[in-house]
Amino acid sequence: MSPRLQAFGDALLGTERRQRVRSARCLLACGLMAYSLASMGYFVAVDIAPAGPVLVLALFGLGGMLAFYAAIRSGASQRFADPSLTIAQMSFALLVGALAYTLAGRARGAVFPIMMVVLMFGLYSLTPRQVRAMSWLALLLFGGAMGLMVWRDPAIYRPEVEFAHFLVIAIILPAVSMLAGQLGRLRDALKRQKAELREALAHNEVLALRDELTGLANRRHMAALIEAERERCAAHGSRFCLAVLDIDRFKRINDTHGHPVGDRVLEVFAQEALAAIREADVLARWGGEEFMLMLPDTRLTAARLGLERLRTRVEALRVAHGSGELGFTLSAGLVEYTPGEPLVEAIARADRALYQAKQQGRNRVVAG
Ligand code: GH3
Ligand code: MG
Ligand code: MG
Repeated sequence: MSPRLQAFGDALLGTERRQRVRSARCLLACGLMAYSLASMGYFVAVDIAPAGPVLVLALFGLGGMLAFYAAIRSGASQRFADPSLTIAQMSFALLVGALAYTLAGRARGAVFPIMMVVLMFGLYSLTPRQVRAMSWLALLLFGGAMGLMVWRDPAIYRPEVEFAHFLVIAIILPAVSMLAGQLGRLRDALKRQKAELREALAHNEVLALRDELTGLANRRHMAALIEAERERCAAHGSRFCLAVLDIDRFKRINDTHGHPVGDRVLEVFAQEALAAIREADVLARWGGEEFMLMLPDTRLTAARLGLERLRTRVEALRVAHGSGELGFTLSAGLVEYTPGEPLVEAIARADRALYQAKQQGRNRVVAG
């Protein structure tokens, strides 16, 4: 689009997206009004409609629509619940249509399609109830116009013809209501689907990164975090430690108290461990009852102290279950990552250290 055209569009419609849609819709309605009134001008030219009243109606109709445009474009309409002023615009257009009906004489049938277009404007933005109210208003205004003209000018507005006209517009009420109801339901369903989709996406994101039972990072996510830490250390020359943690005799907890109690132990352990480690440390569920702890910017001695603290905290923990409570312990294999070493090798060293901890009687931290 040329810059000049763009500037013209911005001046006409504004720059904010929703304001632009509202202003554009209102301008479209202005155009429709102008076109309809021009048709009235034609009826004047061919002596069907009276010049004076049509001119007054044209000024009234166009002036009113331009006032709506000014209210929307200036932002003044934003203090109303519906800044598009849809109901007010539609009511006004229906009123002008009914007045045109009283002036159009033998050409008055041309007004009906315009009235339908006005009602269609509301179908997409109004609630089914509001559309029904607009249909009633149309029926009332046009019925009134017909009654008035049968009384004032029965030679042209013959009662039997006007009665038929009324029957014709009476059908639009249920028809438009039905369409509005269907569209409303469609809109609601779309809104619901969108919300469900958003929720499912967010849930998937969590599933991809987190372990469902404990809420800790899962193995895949942790592997990526460790790799990122390795790269960071390679760039900065800092050190980090890795520890594989394994709950002692966990099988026995499951066998004695049941799988759900085993699950509870895993949850309680995760909470306790998260509370015990430092802000920068990352704990992940590595698989089953095995956990991986990463301690960034930490040397072996400090890491060992931290793990000892965690080990004693876990030792003192009690997990409530059906009839009583149970305690459990933890073994850990700890390593400091050696620069240049493949990550799998560092993890294998931690696994071997854990094996030694088990061999040496469990409930201990072994550095490898
Ligand atoms: P050790 O002291 O040598 O580690 O003995 P252990 O019994 O803890 O070790 P082992 O690896 O033989 O048993 C681990 C058990 O953990 C086996 C498996 O049934 C159980 N397990 C793995 N994942 C879960 C889980 O998500 N929930 C529960 N309740 N149990 C699990
Ligand atoms: Mg175990
Ligand atoms: Mg195990």
